[in-house]
Amino acid sequence: MARLRFYGGVGVIGSTKVVVEQDGWRVVLDMGADIPGREGLVRAPLVLAPGAELRTRLLLGEAPPIERLFKREAVAGTGVAAGGDGRVVLFLSHAHIDHVGLLGWVDGSVPVYAAAETGLILDALEAAGQRLEGGPAAVRALAEGDVVEVGPMRVERVTVDHDIPGASGYLVHTEDGVVAYSGDLRLHGRHPERTERFAERARGAAALVLEGTSLSGDPSAAFRSEAAAEASFEEQLERVPGLVLLSVYPRDLERIAAFTAIAARRGRRIVWPPATAAFLRACGSEGLYELDDEMLAEVRRDPGRHVVQLAANELTTLLDLPVGPGSAFLHANGEPLGPFQAGWTLLEQWLARLQVPFTVIGSSGHATPHDLHRVLETVRPRVVYPLHTTDPYRMLPPPGTLRVLAEYGRWYDVARGASALEAPGAAPSSGKHGTVCVDLDSTLCDTSQRHHLVLPGDERENTDWVAYSLACANDMPIEGTRRLVRLLSAYYRIVVVSSRDEQARSLTDAWLARHEVPYDELILGGAGGAPAGLAEFKVHHVAALLARGEHVALVIDDMPGLPPAMAPLGVPVLTVRPPYDLVVPLPGVTTP
Ligand SMILES: [Zn+2]
Repeated sequence: MARLRFYGGVGVIGSTKVVVEQDGWRVVLDMGADIPGREGLVRAPLVLAPGAELRTRLLLGEAPPIERLFKREAVAGTGVAAGGDGRVVLFLSHAHIDHVGLLGWVDGSVPVYAAAETGLILDALEAAGQRLEGGPAAVRALAEGDVVEVGPMRVERVTVDHDIPGASGYLVHTEDGVVAYSGDLRLHGRHPERTERFAERARGAAALVLEGTSLSGDPSAAFRSEAAAEASFEEQLERVPGLVLLSVYPRDLERIAAFTAIAARRGRRIVWPPATAAFLRACGSEGLYELDDEMLAEVRRDPGRHVVQLAANELTTLLDLPVGPGSAFLHANGEPLGPFQAGWTLLEQWLARLQVPFTVIGSSGHATPHDLHRVLETVRPRVVYPLHTTDPYRMLPPPGTLRVLAEYGRWYDVARGASALEAPGAAPSSGKHGTVCVDLDSTLCDTSQRHHLVLPGDERENTDWVAYSLACANDMPIEGTRRLVRLLSAYYRIVVVSSRDEQARSLTDAWLARHEVPYDELILGGAGGAPAGLAEFKVHHVAALLARGEHVALVIDDMPGLPPAMAPLGVPVLTVRPPYDLVVPLPGVTTP
């Protein structure tokens, strides 16, 4: 039996680490740095001794306790077994820190594979003094089309498009089908055909682990293509008379090459901070201009012929540069990366003080929500696991695909997607206390707009319950229940259990996403959607959850008969009463 487990990227953007296991062999996909939570114990101003970083975080429970993977010194005294076991291989999707940040801690005996470009970028960073925590790592280049055998599993790399050279997805062939891992990808960049090819190759996978970075944003936000980012850069160089300041991400080598050519065309030279110049040189760039005293004098003499990349931690450089209303700062996805980083406001304040106009011209490395769904529609996996997003419930699976919102450290069967019992020694499941089951109709959803579909007489016989299920799209949420579920979702796995017909699954997913109801699993399908035997239906599914080891803490439902039916299982039921049910008709009185 093949199974997979997530050690990061669950409910967060970044820190991705996925383990696929079969017969004791392990394929590890990515080794991203963990993201310190706002209340994490390892955060500024704390300074750790070099070499003690991972050990410290493991001792505090703030790093994944993956056995037989890390160097001895990294895990000493933590209870985590050190060194590889000869049956584990690591694959990297690309050289961004949220995918390779822990690579330096991986034991030297563990083979590491990636695209050749990823290895070159990692070597260049090392050569330029931007060292990996834990030490340098040796990465073996894996050509597309080559297959690495990891015990009974076979692993293939497929190039995708992202804002760094070498970005890759992987196909892990297991005895239960293919686990496709997207890495980070997009369709609006320079090479959309690569991402399309990945989707084609992954078609029909048993499991798709798909990044969902952009799902967190404003769904109506306009996405700029890479071509549009280049056009904006050129337009600004033409329009701005004075010095242009730039923030581009150094590892986006293709954009740097494109911007350099555009600047040359517009009679400007791009000048780099020494650390960035060292990195770019190590990547093979030639003819770079570096900001030293001599160059500074030239920039001052002729600001209109220069573009200066500004290091995020060296804003004081601005005081030596000829900047003001006639210059411009162009943000093209460099540091600070966005308003979520502390440096963003500081940058804005400095630029405002110096009267430098600030313009965002970048293009995201991550697919738009629409494009993510295009990828998902093409692959149509049995199960999709949204990863690398704060809003996984905004990923809407096509009919026939089960979406699983994975929990940290929990095993999932590749074949079924159902969560298996935790293996001994497994990490706690994201700190959640158990499961809460919630009903839909008349509990979360105000069904009054489709009551006319319930026909009089023998309701059960006369009503078309499938049609009734399919009429759910325009229900309003029952706000109290919605609020309660959102509150509980921070602490409990939310499982929606409804007798709605299975055909209403995609409508239901869409409804829950639209009304921002977080949930981890959706169980549908009574007898053709009919409400008969409803209590038995609910009891059956809650018993099944208990049987697979879940602690069901509470059931929320509108059915008055449910508490006694659920009592033998020892699960309490909170019954709610929908607002439209509050007017009790009295004999002889007609209610409006
Ligand atoms: Zn990335």
